[in-house]
Amino acid sequence: MIYTVKKGDTLYRIAKNNGLTLKRLLELNPDIKNPNLIYPGQQIFLRGVDGVKGEGQGVVEFYLNKGWIISSDYGIRRDPFTGSNAFHRGIDFAGKPLGEEIFTPVEGKVIYSSYYNGWGNLIGIEDQGGYIHLFAHLQQRFKKVGERVNKEDVIGLNGSTGKSTGPHLHYQINTPRGGMIGINAHTDPKMFLI
Ligand SMILES: [Zn+2]
Repeated sequence: MIYTVKKGDTLYRIAKNNGLTLKRLLELNPDIKNPNLIYPGQQIFLRGVDGVKGEGQGVVEFYLNKGWIISSDYGIRRDPFTGSNAFHRGIDFAGKPLGEEIFTPVEGKVIYSSYYNGWGNLIGIEDQGGYIHLFAHLQQRFKKVGERVNKEDVIGLNGSTGKSTGPHLHYQINTPRGGMIGINAHTDPKMFLI
């Protein structure tokens, strides 16, 4: 799948519109040496060619492959506490006991590690593209603010802290403009390739 650059495009925007991280887009286009220098008419690969660089694994597959199940999807749902409809800003992964290790599917820098109201024990990791990955309801947090993490690092333990009906991981991705708060600036983790 190839995209032709139009006037005014930025690589970041092209990546975002296609559910890719800037990092992933650059991996798919190794010829681009300077991400700030693209020109109208230039062709950008959005997917791997001939299986050499296949489609990136998604965040969701990352957890499903480790045996987690989705207990609540991203989008409108009935709030388990209020009974009214509310937008669920992340995906809940369950099916694992309290204390199960939680791995990060992305590398990045820890920008938040604290107990925060309904979120319980919360870790926030900012990736290279500026997206913020939130891991909520942890039983324990193993990472501190400022630490760098690699993909597959254990960042904490499965828990039920904060506003939670049982052990699960609430995984949420805020877009760069959303920062840690992310109100109306979150994205469907199913669209996020790693
Ligand atoms: Zn949730």
